[in-house]
Amino acid sequence: MTEKKSTGLIHHPYIPPAGFASAQPGVFKASTVIYKDVAAMRARDWRYKKGYTYGLHGTPTTFLLEEKIATLEGGKHCVLFPSGLAAIANVSMALLSSGDEVLIPSNVYGPNKALCENEFKRWGVAHQVYDTMDPADLERRIGPKTKLVWLEAPGSVSMEFPPVDEQARICRQKGVTSALDNTWAGCIALDGFAIGCDIVVHALTKYPSGGADVLMGAAVTRDDALNEKIKLAHMRIGFGVGANDAEAILRSLPSLEIRYAAQDVAGRELAAWLQSRPEVAQLLHPAFAGSPGHEHWQRLCGGKAAGLFSVVLDARYSQAQVDRFCDALKLFKLGYSWGGPVSLVVPYEMPQIRLAQHWKHKGVLVRFSIGLEDAADLRADLEQALEQMK
Ligand SMILES: *Cc1c(COP(=O)(O)O)cnc(C)c1O
Repeated sequence: MTEKKSTGLIHHPYIPPAGFASAQPGVFKASTVIYKDVAAMRARDWRYKKGYTYGLHGTPTTFLLEEKIATLEGGKHCVLFPSGLAAIANVSMALLSSGDEVLIPSNVYGPNKALCENEFKRWGVAHQVYDTMDPADLERRIGPKTKLVWLEAPGSVSMEFPPVDEQARICRQKGVTSALDNTWAGCIALDGFAIGCDIVVHALTKYPSGGADVLMGAAVTRDDALNEKIKLAHMRIGFGVGANDAEAILRSLPSLEIRYAAQDVAGRELAAWLQSRPEVAQLLHPAFAGSPGHEHWQRLCGGKAAGLFSVVLDARYSQAQVDRFCDALKLFKLGYSWGGPVSLVVPYEMPQIRLAQHWKHKGVLVRFSIGLEDAADLRADLEQALEQMK
């Protein structure tokens, strides 16, 4: 059989030698996966990383990232998603049916609540919001229809740190599956399985990526049956991640721990400085005494924290003045998300903050995410912008 050039371009006979090794894994890209014969095609099993079946169900690049995240988090299985929110949605969809109820904390990541109020409501899944700082409230709300409880520590705007160990213990005692959104901990500061959670979800978008340029999520489990439910839903919904995105996170993982620690150090330095300023009424950072739930952070996080905190400005500053402060910042950029190289700031309007039940502050809240810039430069930036607020 003599082949034309166009065919030869696709079916070239050269096969590179096996045994190549480098510090970073290759980027394997596939929608189609090629089987060696019909028997292999018929015997395909995508469930347990036994082989490759279709790009959507995994490649060497995504399998490796899943294994690394599972190990980092102390789990057995990991499934990747195109965003942190997709991981949350998939976990809920995998476990909830019409007539069931899901419980979410009062400090929940906003879009998780929006999902409950819209899609899940339409699909006949009810939800209740429990007081994240009161375990007795959670216990009271768990009923026969409750099939899933979301936990989150700390609230990523209001920054209160709930007794998640106590919450997980209550779920276990009542026989209800608990899922912890552990994004803040970045696979470093809080061990979700050690405190008894069944599922740990991460937005890899934040610290594991560290680049502010990739969206990805992960759901980690220890239990085979639970993992299979999540994986089956993942397969049927069609969530996949791009190989280049997975590779970007694999490239960032070796520096995860030192970035997390550096951003923590700079974050606490700037938080302490802001706390000392007359313009600031309250610092909300779980590592600081006087911040709600500080004692739970102390018990559970081994002294580690993300470079993320909020301050409530004195009530004499109006929203317009606080907006002016945020606009005056030069190094801090206005933007959502966190864990990347660029420091970020978000002013929150009051109705958004009232998501947290015990809100008693009168001033405007501003959240800071500390990047990798020099801390003294960041402090100078804050100082000049505070002057502009007056
Ligand atoms: C960012 C974030 C998410 C969602 O992650 P995306 O990748 O942006 O969808 C979920 N939970 C928390 C706590 C987050 O901070």
